[in-house]
Amino acid sequence: MIRIATAGFQHESNTFSTVPADLDQFIRAGILEGEAIRAEYATSQTTLAGFFAACAEAPDVELVPLLFARLTPMGAITAEAITHIMDRAIAALREQGPWDAILLPQHGAAVSVPFPDADGEFVRRVRELVGPDVPIGLALDMHGNISRQMVENADITTVYQTNPHIDAYAQALLCARLTLRLVRGEIRPCSALATPPLLVNILNQGTSDHPMSDLLRLADAQRARPGVLSVSVVEGYPYSDVAEMGMSFIAITDNDKALAEDIVRHLAEAAWSMRAALNGGGTAIDDALRRAAAAPAGPVVLFDVGDNVGGGSPGDSTLILHDARRLGVRGVLQALADAEAVRACEAAGIGGRIEIAVGGKTDDRHGAPFAISGVVTALSDGRYEETGPTHAGFRFFNDGPSAAVRTDDGFTLVLITRPGGTMSLQQFRTLGIEPTALPIVVAKGVHSPRPAMEPIAREMIWVATPGVTTADLSTFVYHHRRVPIYPLDPAAG
Ligand SMILES: [Zn+2]
Repeated sequence: MIRIATAGFQHESNTFSTVPADLDQFIRAGILEGEAIRAEYATSQTTLAGFFAACAEAPDVELVPLLFARLTPMGAITAEAITHIMDRAIAALREQGPWDAILLPQHGAAVSVPFPDADGEFVRRVRELVGPDVPIGLALDMHGNISRQMVENADITTVYQTNPHIDAYAQALLCARLTLRLVRGEIRPCSALATPPLLVNILNQGTSDHPMSDLLRLADAQRARPGVLSVSVVEGYPYSDVAEMGMSFIAITDNDKALAEDIVRHLAEAAWSMRAALNGGGTAIDDALRRAAAAPAGPVVLFDVGDNVGGGSPGDSTLILHDARRLGVRGVLQALADAEAVRACEAAGIGGRIEIAVGGKTDDRHGAPFAISGVVTALSDGRYEETGPTHAGFRFFNDGPSAAVRTDDGFTLVLITRPGGTMSLQQFRTLGIEPTALPIVVAKGVHSPRPAMEPIAREMIWVATPGVTTADLSTFVYHHRRVPIYPLDPAAG
């Protein structure tokens, strides 16, 4: 039997967020061990599901799940949390080994206080444990800020090639299959990494839209060259203030270093030539609301870019709500994280009236609390399941205790306990709200809501809201990023 272990953690760390990813947060989200990992993920479309599926293809391969922790994006991971998770994963790998290969289901933009490149540090420690001869497959998110430490300590590195991420499973299959071919001695992988001094604005990261779609077509052409095992275009995550922040390209060939280097150089040059188009766009809040109000049919979906929960924001921005009220725009549906308001709704009960200010309570970047009076129309435990396509393939969601409120002035609000992106229409429907019946739906995210929203939206508008995930990167003060980098430094242009 070929015994393969999988262990790891996924976190996208927004270093501008004031909410630390501490051990309590990870424990509440669940640090899974052993078969609990298979139960949670094997039927999803995530990276882990791809690992399980690839290893099930061969009768002589056994995949042993050891430890997996995943936490919604928020601030940097505390020293206590990262030490706890890495130490437990490494201990499990040591105690239950030896292994024929290791598969790591990481993200690539995890930042912790002792390790700015937390994913790279983890891969380095796994390599140190197993030695140079045990193959390591590393599967990453397209928002990874890729370091040499990651790519050089892994034999195979694959990255989602869609945003919204609907190919996590497919890329994990590729990662695991290539790792298995290496175990069997069928290939000799050789990797190259290019990291041009370039950011891709979150507004321009949709992979089915120009110009990212053009770049991905170029990558397809490179992938078709003889001897190429994998080519990855990596968008990067501009809200992690780390040296590796930015776009990157990874090529893996079968024992041909020059070919791998040629591919990543070619793609980096192409991206550089598109740098202006990769950094633009966004509609002001008032303009977006006026356009939505004037639309002949709804729903018009407004993407709240500055409060992109999947990018690490608190999910409680009230900026669009305040402007809608000021402009007299009615019929807005929005979810909002506010545990205190949910408790008030629970106390009032279904049919009860509440008067409270909701949202805008985490920091001063996301608007003031929004005063409402209205009726509680539904309550739930905040759990829902989405069997259709979702960003990164997740199936089970848990926003914590939730309530629906209809305000006297025409807003429909879903109040949730934990920050929750708008990744499934079930977030609304489990509370008796039919989003297609409302003229305007605010989605907390940029790309992750698209699988849910595109089928129902008559029009989609990306709103340039302020916030911890704003598209206006000039509002952040960076201390650790590379200098120069486009578009933040004029010298880079
Ligand atoms: Zn991502």
